[in-house]
Amino acid sequence: MEPSALIPPPRGESVPGLGVVTWNNPGERVTYAAGILAVHTPHATKLTAVLLRPLLTSRTTCTRCGDPWPCNRATWANQALHTQDGTQ
Ligand SMILES: [Zn+2]
Repeated sequence: MEPSALIPPPRGESVPGLGVVTWNNPGERVTYAAGILAVHTPHATKLTAVLLRPLLTSRTTCTRCGDPWPCNRATWANQALHTQDGTQ
């Protein structure tokens, strides 16, 4: 007996920047996550600093929100692309 077969998947999900979101289908969630990853990227100039000073730990930041990389939105999006909203 699998409890997961009796309990429906969660209807809402807490998404950074959006709040609790109810997806109409897994594809919608994946599409949104891909869009997040397209705009939330590591800051290129900070990566250059890492190359110039390899012995120093440089904090790469997100180009979109300025948070330390990976930002919480990119972290969520990466996870969302590897999990299919409780369907697996
Ligand atoms: Zn970000």
